[in-house]
Amino acid sequence: MENKRYGKSIGDIMKIKSDFFTKNKEMLEMSSRQADALLRQPERKICKICHEPLGGEIFYHSQRMEYYLCGKCGHVNSRYEDTDDFANAVYITDSYENNYSEEDKKKYASRRDMIYIPKAQFLIEELAKDGLAKEDMSVLDDGAGSGYFVSALRQLGIRDSKGIEISKAQVDFANAMNDEEILSRADAKDIVPVIRETKCNTVTFIGVLEHIINLDEILDAIRDNKNIRYIFFSVPMFSFSCIFEAAHQNCYNRHAGGTHSHLFQDSSISYMADRIGFEKYSSWKFGSDMMDLYRMICVCLEEGGNGKLKEVFSERFLPILDDLQKTVDESESASEIHMILKRKA
Ligand SMILES: [Zn+2]
Repeated sequence: MENKRYGKSIGDIMKIKSDFFTKNKEMLEMSSRQADALLRQPERKICKICHEPLGGEIFYHSQRMEYYLCGKCGHVNSRYEDTDDFANAVYITDSYENNYSEEDKKKYASRRDMIYIPKAQFLIEELAKDGLAKEDMSVLDDGAGSGYFVSALRQLGIRDSKGIEISKAQVDFANAMNDEEILSRADAKDIVPVIRETKCNTVTFIGVLEHIINLDEILDAIRDNKNIRYIFFSVPMFSFSCIFEAAHQNCYNRHAGGTHSHLFQDSSISYMADRIGFEKYSSWKFGSDMMDLYRMICVCLEEGGNGKLKEVFSERFLPILDDLQKTVDESESASEIHMILKRKA
């Protein structure tokens, strides 16, 4: 039986994402360009997760993108396929300064502590319940980005943790921020071999699986490497956020569209786990649905000249936001999930 956890205080995360509030128009334009790129791709013929043929009735549409609901596994697939061409068009190569200040390091540590330490703690606690002590954990983080999650694991004492990342700029940044080599660079074509050969007992994908073009190959590599006993990932879910977005077409779509061309449901995660010989072990659901709704209402009020009412709304709504979101999380409709899968005995 899967362990379940719900809710997490939004805390200071809102400050980090303030662009969503102040730059709605710019964000919407960016997302529209990403939609252009997806609309250029071939039509998706089969479900991203279970390979069931798609087609027939459209489930819903938002920001010019149509979505199919897979009748077999419940996965929500965009009508057009995510391809290498799409990835090249939407994933912008970040550029970083070469000289980092102490201030940069402080910001890095603060973001890591606020967002990634809780995720790392969750993983450690849950694996401990299954008899895997901290000392015996070894973690390979795939798509490690700027290394926040690996850095968090190391802060919590998991020395045998490392990450791989395609972007050289991000690898350099992560290693500079941590004063040690916590990440190494891997070409897209090397990721499958790295996973096939890893000795780590845990592989992690924080906000990564939904972006992987060759997801089947990555999952097959995990299935075949018996060293890997646990998979920890977070993915976007079909959720209230999708519905709020569909209802507010003048507001930035953080969730569906953009770089997210498909969305998970509990049923498609189960299918994915089962196909590679894993089962759901532990989940933590905390979404941003109510924050999305809050933001959309603020944007609409502001655009309609109701700035004063927006202030009143903020004063009254923000204090209850965590409670409202907790209710959404417990109703299994949260926009994100953190999930640990365990290899079946
Ligand atoms: Zn499916």
